[in-house]
Amino acid sequence: MTLRPEAAKPGTPVILGVPFDANSSWLRGAAGAPPIIRVALHSISSNLWTETGVDLGAEGAYCDAGDLKFTFQETFPAIEAKVGELLDHGLRPLCLGGDHSITLPIVRAFGKHVRGLTIIHFDAHPDLYDELEGNRLSHACPFARIMEEGAAKRLIQVGIRTMTGHQREQAQKFGVEVIEMRHLPALDRMKVDGPIYISFDLDALDPAHAPGISHREPGGLSVREAIAHIQAITGKIAGADIVEYNPAQDNTQMTAAVAAKLLKEILGKMILN
Ligand code: MN
Ligand code: MN
Repeated sequence: MTLRPEAAKPGTPVILGVPFDANSSWLRGAAGAPPIIRVALHSISSNLWTETGVDLGAEGAYCDAGDLKFTFQETFPAIEAKVGELLDHGLRPLCLGGDHSITLPIVRAFGKHVRGLTIIHFDAHPDLYDELEGNRLSHACPFARIMEEGAAKRLIQVGIRTMTGHQREQAQKFGVEVIEMRHLPALDRMKVDGPIYISFDLDALDPAHAPGISHREPGGLSVREAIAHIQAITGKIAGADIVEYNPAQDNTQMTAAVAAKLLKEILGKMILN
C-alpha cells in the first residue's frame, strides 16, 4: 500500500497525477498517462531501488495523492489549489502529466510557497511562445507565462532543439539560460543552488528511446544522458513534474518504462538532496 499524504512526514515527496491534455496543440492522449506510469513504477520486472541507493519501497519514502479529479472547477485553478494544499502540508509535489501546460498552475502554486525557485527544464522545445494558435495557455507557452509572472527566479533549459526566431527573442527577454541539445553534455551546469524545480518533458529524449510522446523530435537525449544530468543536480529539489507521456503513441510500453525510470531517479534525488 502506498502511503497517503495525510500520513506523511513534512518534506516527503508526494506524487500527484494531473490527467489533463486539452492544451496540447497536436495529439491528445497525455491525460491517460498517470495510472500507466504508476503501473510501470511498480512492475515486478524491476525493483524500487534507485541507482543512487534509495529504496523507494521503504516505509514513508514517498507518498501518493492519487490523480486530480476535475469536477466543475476550472482546470488551472484546480491544479494550483491542489498543489498549494500539498505544499501547505510541507510535502514536495511531483506531478505526472498531462500535457506541459500544467506546469504553469503547478509553478504558480510553488511561487506562492517557495522563494527564489530555479527551474531545470528538460525538453526538445523551449515552450516560450507568447501564444500558439491563439492559445496563451498552450503547452507551447507555459514558460513564457511563468517568467512574465515572476513565479520562478531562474529558468535553465536542457535539450532544446526546435528554437524559432521568436522563441530566441523570448529566451533573451526573460533571461532564460538555454543549453541546446547540440551543446550537451553540460553536467557542470546542473550544479545549482536550491530550491530547484525539475520539469521533465519526455520529448527531451530521443524518440528512439521514448516514442510514446506527442511531438517526436529526433536527435535528443538518451535515457542515460538524461539520468546523468538529473543525478548531477546538486541543490535541494522542491518539486518536479514529468509530462507529455502519451500512451496512445506507446505501442510497446517502452516509454512507460522510461517515464517510470525517470520518476524513480528524480524521487531518489529529491530524497537525497
Ligand atoms: Mn514541453
Ligand atoms: Mn516538448
